[in-house]
Amino acid sequence: MVTKPVVCLAHRDKVPETPVVYTDLSLNLIYEMLKEAVLGACDFSSMVRGKTVFIKPNLVRPNPTQLPAVTTDPRVVMGMIRLAQEMGAAKVQVGENPGFQYNSRAAFEDWGVRETLEKMGAEIIYLDEDTPVEVSNPTGRVMMKMKLPQSVLQADCFINIPKMKTHMHALVTLGIKNLHGLVFDESRLMFHRNDIAQKIVDIYRVAKPHLTVIDGLWAMEGQAPLSGGVIPDMNLLAAGTDTVAVDSVCSELMMIAPEEVDAIRIAGWEGLGVNNLEEINITGADPKPIQKRFKRPVLSGSGVYPNLLCIEGGSCKGCLSAMRHALDKLNRDGLLEKIPPFTIYVGVPMPNVKNLQNSVGDIWIYGNCAVNVMQQDGIREKHPHFIYGCAPHIFDLYALLKKTYLDAKPTRQG
Ligand code: SF4
Repeated sequence: MVTKPVVCLAHRDKVPETPVVYTDLSLNLIYEMLKEAVLGACDFSSMVRGKTVFIKPNLVRPNPTQLPAVTTDPRVVMGMIRLAQEMGAAKVQVGENPGFQYNSRAAFEDWGVRETLEKMGAEIIYLDEDTPVEVSNPTGRVMMKMKLPQSVLQADCFINIPKMKTHMHALVTLGIKNLHGLVFDESRLMFHRNDIAQKIVDIYRVAKPHLTVIDGLWAMEGQAPLSGGVIPDMNLLAAGTDTVAVDSVCSELMMIAPEEVDAIRIAGWEGLGVNNLEEINITGADPKPIQKRFKRPVLSGSGVYPNLLCIEGGSCKGCLSAMRHALDKLNRDGLLEKIPPFTIYVGVPMPNVKNLQNSVGDIWIYGNCAVNVMQQDGIREKHPHFIYGCAPHIFDLYALLKKTYLDAKPTRQG
């Protein structure tokens, strides 16, 4: 008989306090929720007793005052350290690498709890400073080998604690997507296009967590991670040993069907986990009243901002997502409206026709695919700006628009 993977939900109608300002009141409540979810999902004592336990939160761009739901709630990580220690873990480590030239030391400081975690007895591991170990992935699809941090590979137990949120590029970021934080900067932007789902499934293939706990206390919707909307009352933790099953259940709770999420669909197709809700044993809290319709991210930059004419040729979501991230962040920072009307062309132009007519202001050509729009009569004379890359770095457009029109210092922090 095939045993169904268990995904255990812990939910409360109200969780007091916030991920930024809290006391023992919410710390104790969240610890109880965590215990419910984790012990309901696995034999946690056998998993951690006498072992080195590595915990990976998501610290993409900690910005606790503006975006308190972008990173894993520190209260969940504290609860997990306490639970692992109580269950006899020999050593607990907490490590992350947000990447994209934002170093882990800065991220842990900006998150605001490094000292607290150390006082609890956890060792902080800065994954960007960790020893890279080359791992081969003979059954992979795009990454046949990759460098992963030695600490994660050497840990006896790997616990994955992502934040529940939508994602401009991956639609949702849950357990599988959180593993992208394991690769070093040199390969962060590789396969950061439509093939990102194959890439993160390849990482999952070689670095499967023993346990995934989704932090859905405060969640994020829409243009996440950098400009999403906060959902402060999801009040959910979900745990399971099959990350694909955990992601499938959580995606469904966000009212995004698992088959819509490339990484979940592909991981199931590859036989790396269960993505069919009928074949998952959902235990703990009743999922029906928890389910919420999350706003989906919109990747297009066309018809959004009054001072931007954006023409999209044959573009994949690599360029679209990086471009829209930059525009949304400029808007969030109150800067976009100060830029004079301008035009962006993105994606492969249609051959043998004029692709860019009635442009407005300066022309920005975005991504390697768009370069041939230069062949069109009259474009060269307008001295367009180029942003190269496949896909360009998320912050390139942000930084260059700021530098060109606002002469302000760019920041890589969220
Ligand atoms: S240049 Fe942009 S649109 Fe073209 S393949 Fe790369 S990411 Fe996609």
